[in-house]
Amino acid sequence: MPIQLSRRGFIASTASLIALHPFSAHAAANQVHLRIMETTDLHVHVYPYDYYADKAIDTVGLSRTASLIEAIRAESTNSILLDNGDFLQGNPMGDYIAYERGMKPGDMHPVIAAMNTLGFDASTLGNHEFNYGLNFLTNSVAGASFPVVSANIAKNQGASAREDETLLPPYVILERMLTDGAGAAHPIKIGIIGFVPPQVMNWDRKHLEGNVQARDIVAAAQAFVPEMKEKGAELIIALCHSGIGAAAHSDGMENAAIPLAAVDGIDAILTGHSHLVFPSKTFEGREGLDNAAGTISGKPGVMGGFWGSHMGLIDLMLERDGNSWRIAGHTAEARPISKRNEDRSITALVEDNAAVLASVQLEHDATLAYVRRAVGKTDAPLHSYFALVADDPSVQVVSNAQMWYVEQQLAGTDYAGLPLLSAAAPFKAGGRGGPDYYTDVPVGDVAIKNVADLYLYPNTVRAVVVTGAQVKGWLERSAGMFNQITPGGADQLLLNPDFPSYNFDVIDGVTYKIDLSQPAMFDKDGAVVAAGANRIVDLAYNGAPIDPAARFVIATNNYRASGGGAFPGADGSTVVFEAPDTNRDVLVRYIVEKGTINPSADGNWGFAPMPGTSVLFDTGPGGAQYAGAVPGVALEAAGTGEGGFARFRIAL
Ligand code: MN
Ligand code: MG
Repeated sequence: MPIQLSRRGFIASTASLIALHPFSAHAAANQVHLRIMETTDLHVHVYPYDYYADKAIDTVGLSRTASLIEAIRAESTNSILLDNGDFLQGNPMGDYIAYERGMKPGDMHPVIAAMNTLGFDASTLGNHEFNYGLNFLTNSVAGASFPVVSANIAKNQGASAREDETLLPPYVILERMLTDGAGAAHPIKIGIIGFVPPQVMNWDRKHLEGNVQARDIVAAAQAFVPEMKEKGAELIIALCHSGIGAAAHSDGMENAAIPLAAVDGIDAILTGHSHLVFPSKTFEGREGLDNAAGTISGKPGVMGGFWGSHMGLIDLMLERDGNSWRIAGHTAEARPISKRNEDRSITALVEDNAAVLASVQLEHDATLAYVRRAVGKTDAPLHSYFALVADDPSVQVVSNAQMWYVEQQLAGTDYAGLPLLSAAAPFKAGGRGGPDYYTDVPVGDVAIKNVADLYLYPNTVRAVVVTGAQVKGWLERSAGMFNQITPGGADQLLLNPDFPSYNFDVIDGVTYKIDLSQPAMFDKDGAVVAAGANRIVDLAYNGAPIDPAARFVIATNNYRASGGGAFPGADGSTVVFEAPDTNRDVLVRYIVEKGTINPSADGNWGFAPMPGTSVLFDTGPGGAQYAGAVPGVALEAAGTGEGGFARFRIAL
């Protein structure tokens, strides 16, 4: 750090002078600079570690956010540290505690230990706090040395929200001393109130039904904020574990930050749940927001990313106004712990806080052992070497888990009666990733770290409702994976090298053949190039041809459902269920719950026969050992392809 001799002879570091917020520099005798720091959606990320990949990373970890927090504390007269929920679940450390170690009364949850170490002032519940049941939640929260509040979840609902017997205190009023610009101390009562999406009642129905009830976020605020005022709160901060969605309020809305911020009496709002950053260009030009001023419905607001990626920071200049405090100025920002460089590499911007790391060292080590240890068994090898030419276990297991999960989630809804299908693609299937870029988990033990290999992306589960015609269109889109093959020709190259395997969705729950003699209906980007083409033939549900007008549910992911890959029936308008859970978490739960999985593919798709025709297919050399056992495809070794791939001949 460069040290300069200033004009007046003081030695000061330029960095600390630059970091000093103007409110601190200018606070007068009747003014107080208060800094409100937020963490949100930590999801048990304390160490900067990706437990699925089993390697250190610089983009996550409360140990890193902690360094931003301590830096603010060091340069501030007055600060408060708040967490916005979703701390108990979301990485293998959370699963290790829930599925292995347990969370008995008196046990300490590691993320709570880390939060205690850092000295949080308060927190609220996120929707994921309910994932492991209410006992797990209450036992975990009992270890917190800070209050945890939640205003819209009740053990018993009264006639109005104020009469609810809430699960946790709806709010807390913190009595603090603030130091003004002249160094004099003033007492202040800061009210902290918290909210969670009422959708928890659906997402965790099996834990919550009959035990708790949820209210609309805005309705709960309108009830409790005046009560906080009556009890003397001079400044009210909303911990809104809910995202920034529509500007207009609708009853029970999931992402309610804008109408919540508008509630009279709320002075500042911390948001989260949607894992985004506010202010940021993501939110440019949105109704109800001022991205430049950092306000939501005119109130200072922030959203600090997820997994510790950012610290949200609201700076308030409070001014004594008779017997109360008035906000005379405010700024908001989200400070990152890392930056992505132009070559996509990551640079850490802060170092670890040693005390925070030490507070979870034992559980971190135990989690490493947990992800490396078998949690289940597979009866079939889970490899993707032939996933582009035959129905494949590594894709099948994803669809099996997605169907298992979506069936539970849609039980009791209008969609429960519709046929349930599942779409999944081989993410690691060579291509530009190279000849080693395949999933390869042998028969026997399955460890948590293998699951990352089976599901590469941190997508979340979605369900869409589509027509039979759209099911066919979806598959026509997938079938662009292949070149058009001339009947009777020999050794034609099968794969279109420009088509990424993650857009080769296999749909389970229907049966079909792919006729490679036809041109592809879509190009690699999803534009229709041969409207009359029919690569998908013999498409059937329960053995009968699909009715183009019939309706189907397809379990998929947020990327596809919201238009990723431009698949027919998947433009965002057909979504009927948005899961809070990642496909990867669902896969882990599925494996843990089933113990032994048997993901042998059901052979629901294949190529239509083309007598006297052969194609060449390139895959990883590691696939050679399995080539004799791929059902429904006659593979013959045909030397090597370009770039180190192994080449096979397939007689169609
Ligand atoms: Mn979250
Ligand atoms: Mg299948």
